[in-house]
Amino acid sequence: MLLTDDLLHHYKRCQRRSFLDLYGDRKEQDREKDFVKKLHQESQKHIDQVLSHFEYVNIRELKIGSYSHNYYPSQPEKIAQTEALMSQGVDVIYQGILTCQNLENFLTKETEINHILTYFPEGVTLMSYPSLLIKIAGKSKFGDWLYVPINIKFGSRPKSEYKLIGAFNAYILAEIQGVLSPYSSLILREEKEYKINLENWLIPLQEVITNFLEMTAKKIEPDVFISRQRCSLCPWYNHCYQIAQNQKHLCLIPGITPKRYEQLQELKIKTVESLAEACPVNLGEYMGNKIAIQLQQQAESIVKNKPLVRGNVNIKIPTKDIEIYFDIEAEPDINLDYLLGVLLVNRTENTHQFYPFLAVKPEDESKIWQEFLDLLKKYPDAPIFHFSEYEKDTINRLASLYHTDNQNRQNILDHCVDLHNIVTNYITLPVENYSLKSLGNWLGFQWYHQGIGGDQCVWWYDQWLKTGDRQFLDCILRYNEDDCWATFHLKNWLVEFLPH
Ligand code: SF4
Repeated sequence: MLLTDDLLHHYKRCQRRSFLDLYGDRKEQDREKDFVKKLHQESQKHIDQVLSHFEYVNIRELKIGSYSHNYYPSQPEKIAQTEALMSQGVDVIYQGILTCQNLENFLTKETEINHILTYFPEGVTLMSYPSLLIKIAGKSKFGDWLYVPINIKFGSRPKSEYKLIGAFNAYILAEIQGVLSPYSSLILREEKEYKINLENWLIPLQEVITNFLEMTAKKIEPDVFISRQRCSLCPWYNHCYQIAQNQKHLCLIPGITPKRYEQLQELKIKTVESLAEACPVNLGEYMGNKIAIQLQQQAESIVKNKPLVRGNVNIKIPTKDIEIYFDIEAEPDINLDYLLGVLLVNRTENTHQFYPFLAVKPEDESKIWQEFLDLLKKYPDAPIFHFSEYEKDTINRLASLYHTDNQNRQNILDHCVDLHNIVTNYITLPVENYSLKSLGNWLGFQWYHQGIGGDQCVWWYDQWLKTGDRQFLDCILRYNEDDCWATFHLKNWLVEFLPH
């Protein structure tokens, strides 16, 4: 059994993911998303940037002995080379591989190693791939020096899974160099360094490894639980989603978090129907009355397959001769809003016009902001419909950045109408989530580019900047215009549906 840091990382995020990585049928995996490819590229760029500060030996590029120029080391050779370079006292080692087979320090105290090993007659090998091993002064089995593991991560926060893997690296390294390094480091985005306190992470590490080995030994497949944030970039997403759909799993009901799911299990509520009919007092005791009522109404809406009004609606959605539907495409990594898409609808003349204010170069952001302001100036009374807080936040950001006068900014903000806010405050719909895609599809609207999200636009824009191929921009424009149209249809439906 080979337990790598990747498997452990996935286990920490989602136990099912590591189980599928080991036992799942790879043919069931989704094709790698373009956005994920971009993340890998950005991450490698970040690593290269950090590496530029070091003189290092790259294990993967070492040529071994007298073999031909094209010969690169096998994995066992790379492992041996890592240790050999450490014993020689090389200052910085890049892409070293650390392994150990002694489980004694890696399991919880009460776990019997022999018991675990009966499931793995071939033994258990722990293997980790720290980005860098850096020599510092101190004593180790090699001499008057020892090594500290460093992981270079593209994230901006020291997430708990990063810390866990940092500790995993350090404790395996301790088995090799005979001493625990004083810390393990993370180098994050913007080259911020974070030192992991190894003592704090020993027990969590032992628990995770023990639980992982038990799950693996007994081949217990963890239940599916779809959570948008965690699952959206996972290669097993469609596989898991199909299972959740077939099971009519409660995780597909908006508002059901893993904790609430557990509470429902305790109450023996296992289907959407039983949730819709559950006693609200019992439910309220577990999760508070407000949440209980919301979840029940959500379940009722799904069972009856109809939209329901939530409480007293005290809002009037404006309808004017001229209306604006507004949607933005952004590249968050470089804090750039590169497309301000406006669909202008003239209800009296029954006409419409799409205005895509597009920064073909990132430096054009101020230009498109000005063009956007110029258009709005022509229609000072038009309401501006959009579908998230992001549009208002962006108006504020761009107005500050490009010194738009406050009166003008406030006037624009006063005309903004956030339809997402209205839907989530006043209506419950038979949908799996309240994204624009989900609501638009429920209304019967179809995007030209189906099955993609805003992250695909991030990839297209990146490709446009790299290749200059106009097709990428055309895809973005079409996608953005469709978002504006979906917002238009939603607004029409809301006006019809909500009590006047
Ligand atoms: S799709 Fe979600 S539940 Fe399935 S393996 Fe991936 S992260 Fe886990």
